[in-house]
Amino acid sequence: MALQQMHIGFDDTDSPRKGCTTYIAALLVEKLHRLGVGFTDYPNLVRLNPNVPWKTRGNGALCLRIKCEEKLVDVVKETVIEAVEENSDLAYRCTEPGIVFFTRAKIPREVKAFARNAITGIVNMKTALKLMRRYRAEAVGFKSGRGIIGGLAAVGENLQGDHTFEVIAYRTPENYGLKRRIDASSVFEMDKATAPYTFNNVDPETGRILITPRGPDPILFGIRGETPEIVKKAFEMVKPLEPVERWVIFRTNHGTDAHLKRVKKLCEIKPYHPVIAKGVVAANPKTVPRRHIIFQIKDESACIDCAAYEPTGNLRKVASQLIAGDLVEVYGGVRPPSGNRPLTINLEKLRLLRLAPKFVYQNPVCPQCGKRLKSMGKGKGFRCEKCHLRYPGLEKIAVKYKREVQKGLYITSPRSQRHLTKPFRRYGMEKRHAPVGKLIEGWHFP
Ligand SMILES: [Zn+2]
Repeated sequence: MALQQMHIGFDDTDSPRKGCTTYIAALLVEKLHRLGVGFTDYPNLVRLNPNVPWKTRGNGALCLRIKCEEKLVDVVKETVIEAVEENSDLAYRCTEPGIVFFTRAKIPREVKAFARNAITGIVNMKTALKLMRRYRAEAVGFKSGRGIIGGLAAVGENLQGDHTFEVIAYRTPENYGLKRRIDASSVFEMDKATAPYTFNNVDPETGRILITPRGPDPILFGIRGETPEIVKKAFEMVKPLEPVERWVIFRTNHGTDAHLKRVKKLCEIKPYHPVIAKGVVAANPKTVPRRHIIFQIKDESACIDCAAYEPTGNLRKVASQLIAGDLVEVYGGVRPPSGNRPLTINLEKLRLLRLAPKFVYQNPVCPQCGKRLKSMGKGKGFRCEKCHLRYPGLEKIAVKYKREVQKGLYITSPRSQRHLTKPFRRYGMEKRHAPVGKLIEGWHFP
């Protein structure tokens, strides 16, 4: 009996008012299991470039990787199409779902490259369709079918490099839109018990719980961590105070910095392509309305604005303490020029590599009595109020000040981190070439 490998990617099913693509995946996990389909991987939740201008919410695409008997292939396809159609917000103007059925066992290198580009930059439908023709993939699009792009990207990103896991628990429909009810102290206990192998459970600056999203989507909470075992353990520790309809463990690129691509020169920076770039702070930072910090960095090729917004917390504070001459590495999305604002990097992280010396200029002291001299005006020298002597030849003295900031890495506060931003807790835990083994017992319900 020949088993057929299938990679089923889909995207762009939700809207700001309704739905969630991961929920469709969770429904399909149950439906496909009932059909007797085997999963060769946890459902993959692949976050694409968070800086594309047309993204819905988190810009997450899904891929289910399964093996089934050949005679089941058609019913699997029908089941997926039906689930996407029934659970997408098709009435919303910008929701344009797409599904990709990919039946090769191995993912071709070109499709992997397409996925990389969808995560770090911008890809188009033309390239997606060309690749799908070449590899005989089947696509189903609703309306313009823009979701096909994300669907193919999810197929292509099989997370062989660094990756994490997320267990997501879903609410029952009667609770959609209502305040999420979970026992807060159980979340803090879970965080303590599973640290450092889970991340972004709570925001230490505000004490806010981060595992519950806001908005009308069906997610009750999601816990992120390094292994399926740890997220399952964490899930069992959290006490929901409302019914959980279902839950699933996903394998994801959350917390991996997968979207950031290093540029060698500042002149290579393009709008919508998240970057890591190095430069020297060109002038002391400015505070613009609503307490955002703006500073410029430069290298021999170009000069570019960087912005640290108010909710970035500690990152904003460090940015405000930079001075001209500091050497920094900046990480973030790139906003195109608009109005009178130039191309700007919205900071997610900042690495302070070298501190410039900070000088404060003081008046010299009187050579006779030692009292601090008074200035007679710019370039006109000084006079002593006590001895009534004038010193036209003296100049201000540079005094070196201790800098308040230290070299090192600064990351935006957890409450304003992107799904893809690698948090402090994950540094040193990156996975490389980790093949998917056997899935753990009980990775979903029902
Ligand atoms: Zn004097």
